[in-house]
Amino acid sequence: MKERVWAMCFAFIISFGIGMLTGEAAERKQDRYVGLHDRLLPIEDVRVIDNNTKVPLADIAKYLYLPLSEEDGAMHIRKRGFDISYDYKTKQTTKNGVEQKGAPITEVDGKLYISVIYIAKEVGFKIEYFPKLKTLRIYRDDYPHMSHTDYEKQIQALLNKKPAIKANVYLTFDDGPNQYTTLNTATLEKNNVQGTFFFVGKHMKNNEKIVKATAAGGHYIGSHSMTHDKDNIYKSTKSFMTEMNEGIQLIQTMTGQDSKLLRVPYGSKPHVTPAMRVELNKRSYKMWDWDVDSNDWKYTDKQTDAILKNVQVGVEKAYKSGDRDIIILMHDRSQSAKALPAIIEWLQAQGYTIKKYEPDHHVMQNFHKDSKL
Ligand SMILES: [Zn+2]
Repeated sequence: MKERVWAMCFAFIISFGIGMLTGEAAERKQDRYVGLHDRLLPIEDVRVIDNNTKVPLADIAKYLYLPLSEEDGAMHIRKRGFDISYDYKTKQTTKNGVEQKGAPITEVDGKLYISVIYIAKEVGFKIEYFPKLKTLRIYRDDYPHMSHTDYEKQIQALLNKKPAIKANVYLTFDDGPNQYTTLNTATLEKNNVQGTFFFVGKHMKNNEKIVKATAAGGHYIGSHSMTHDKDNIYKSTKSFMTEMNEGIQLIQTMTGQDSKLLRVPYGSKPHVTPAMRVELNKRSYKMWDWDVDSNDWKYTDKQTDAILKNVQVGVEKAYKSGDRDIIILMHDRSQSAKALPAIIEWLQAQGYTIKKYEPDHHVMQNFHKDSKL
């Protein structure tokens, strides 16, 4: 029995040592775990101190029902006739007055940590270590529990589980295609995400290659009118629809994609009239405004921090209001292309999922709150 425990301790130390040597980067903040019977204990602070896996004494005491009492400058664990104590002055651990080797209890910044293997053994538990999961399972044979194989599978599944999706964020880029479209798509692709581009017809005619490359990159292309000329677009319902139809037709011609999504220049309010909305609906078009304005066009190349800040403030506000499909307005401009990497990094670090427009999961977002669009 004693030999087995030592063998396990040794295997345990070795595997932790290898883990540290290879410098495994854990995505989760926590990368070592302690399990009790069939579960994983919610103890986050699992550390290796002096080659020994230790956890805060106060935490493990809760789960193992260990009564703690502090007296005469020492912490005592008294249970079933034993008295394990840690003397704050001598920093020694004793059991029934006998000094314990290997410093099973250690004080770090005024907090006591105890060796999991030591205390488990003292209270009659067995120990199994799962090196791949860096999980130490303590259990008793007289308490029902699943097999080690099943336990390992269960914990593996638990640790693999991705955190729940916080909210979807759609990065949208207006006014292209142009040279900055190419930079933006490159940044998106580098990060394995896709964007939604609202192209202006007259620019598409001069940049067919960029249109095709954007489509080939898997990004969504919607129309941002033919001319971007406010007076012409909103002159009448007829001129409005001509701009939209021609824009959509051009996307179809150049990319073969059946696009239905529009972003009207200058936003739909107040320019888009009820009559125009009826016509859009007849054509099964969808119209997107935005939730968050990056105001990127106002800034220079040296003010990318301000663009990032606008996105951060806007997204947080939208999220707090309950919005789970957040549409961000940007442009294919130099300063926007420069700000984009930091924006993506921040969104992902915050747990947002970056998506392109999905026609099959259309999200209504227009300033008129017209549910048909
Ligand atoms: Zn525009």
